[in-house]
Amino acid sequence: MRDVYTLWRPTPLYRAYALEKALDTPAKIYYKYEGVSPAGSHKPNTAVPQAYYNQQEGVKRITTETGAGQWGSALAFACNLFGIECEVYMVKISYDHKPYRKMMMNTWGAKVYASPTDHTQAGRMILAQDPNSPGSLGIAISEAVERAASDENTKYALGSVLNHVLMHQTVIGQEALKQMEKAGDMPDIVVAPFGGGSNFAGIAFPFLRLNFEEGRNIRCIAAEPSSCPKLTRGVFRYDFGDTVGMTPLLPMYTLGHNFVPAPIHAGGLRYHGAGVIVSQLLKDQLIEARAHEQLECFESGVLFARTEGIIPAPEATHALATVVQEAQRCKEEGVSRTILFNLCGHGHFDLKAYEDYFEGKLVSHEVTQGEIEASLAQLDTPLIG
Ligand SMILES: *Cc1c(COP(=O)(O)O)cnc(C)c1O
Repeated sequence: MRDVYTLWRPTPLYRAYALEKALDTPAKIYYKYEGVSPAGSHKPNTAVPQAYYNQQEGVKRITTETGAGQWGSALAFACNLFGIECEVYMVKISYDHKPYRKMMMNTWGAKVYASPTDHTQAGRMILAQDPNSPGSLGIAISEAVERAASDENTKYALGSVLNHVLMHQTVIGQEALKQMEKAGDMPDIVVAPFGGGSNFAGIAFPFLRLNFEEGRNIRCIAAEPSSCPKLTRGVFRYDFGDTVGMTPLLPMYTLGHNFVPAPIHAGGLRYHGAGVIVSQLLKDQLIEARAHEQLECFESGVLFARTEGIIPAPEATHALATVVQEAQRCKEEGVSRTILFNLCGHGHFDLKAYEDYFEGKLVSHEVTQGEIEASLAQLDTPLIG
């Protein structure tokens, strides 16, 4: 596993001097760049150990879902290295928007289907309700889980939310901590985009440890989309990790497992719930959350590309929107703070999103309170406490 990690780890930590200059801010901005992995994001950090442990257990095939295509690519890459078959249910909206992600997975030997499909019960049920369903991560999870549950040599692997995934990702923060020390600096604020919580946990947890053990006061901020705001507008209660209700119940911030987010371009953030550890941390006010709508995110993403050179994944632009806000606050208050954010992936397969942005086709989208309440009203899972 560690040998495989050495293909791209440690990942670089950069200081964003050009972005700081463009923002005319006294803040110091650093970023950890996870886009140097073979799949182009932080996802291989957990795909590799998951494939390895499955191989050790004699598993022949792994099924999974993918939203933006990042997790499917990472798992396809990892399964290929460990000689395991890989079957990917790809959220339909992403399948249509990102043909190159599919080809990438095919190149690493995986089979890829547009979800909802008509070859699982879960998929057929959704198609019966809405034949034009754009799909969602929750629906795709249901399909992949059903496939694994009906074959004993097949297992299901999840790329976010669960505790082991969060733990694997902490390699990001562990490295960042050492790199910040080498740079002779320490963040006041750590920011990461938030889908299910794995890259946020990955970069933030090692710094949170310093808060708990050394009494530091490093603010950790999760940045989520306004169209899928489980942390800022969801409720903390038991819910399923998937749409059909096959996973164990998890105590989480959720918009309800039936919530189908608008088809925004940050596919990796279109998930209804948050991992249990990050949910509890938010409940206990040990971390913060902030929502951004997609136009603001792309504006920050383009500014980053034009200053620092790297084209960020649409998911990562949410962290950038928070970073820009914090850097502007520093300017207004005339104080310098050190901000570290996770640039969790590059956007080379997401250029359609940038094209839509430049052509003025991206709309500002914020989910209404009515839509959130309608989704939550369908929950009959137990309340907490
Ligand atoms: C999957 C993904 C996310 C969201 O998932 P988390 O588990 O919240 O990290 C964010 N950014 C990218 C690039 C992704 O691939």
